[in-house]
Amino acid sequence: MTTVLTPASPLTAADRCDRCGAQAYLRVVLASGGELLFCAHHGRKFEPELKKIAVEIQDESGRLTTPNATAAEEER
Ligand SMILES: [Zn+2]
Repeated sequence: MTTVLTPASPLTAADRCDRCGAQAYLRVVLASGGELLFCAHHGRKFEPELKKIAVEIQDESGRLTTPNATAAEEER
């Protein structure tokens, strides 16, 4: 098993939003080298802030096809 160096590895169902635990569709790579994962809902909510601190935002929310918006509306 080799270490994946590319940040473009696709997000999987095992990747969870740091805020609500829903499936993550955004990976935010920070200038500090850390990573944050967000669901589409929280990714959109924090996008203005994230753009200030991120060196890369991998947005896979376009893969969202299930109209399951109500489950993602939980605010925390
Ligand atoms: Zn979330």
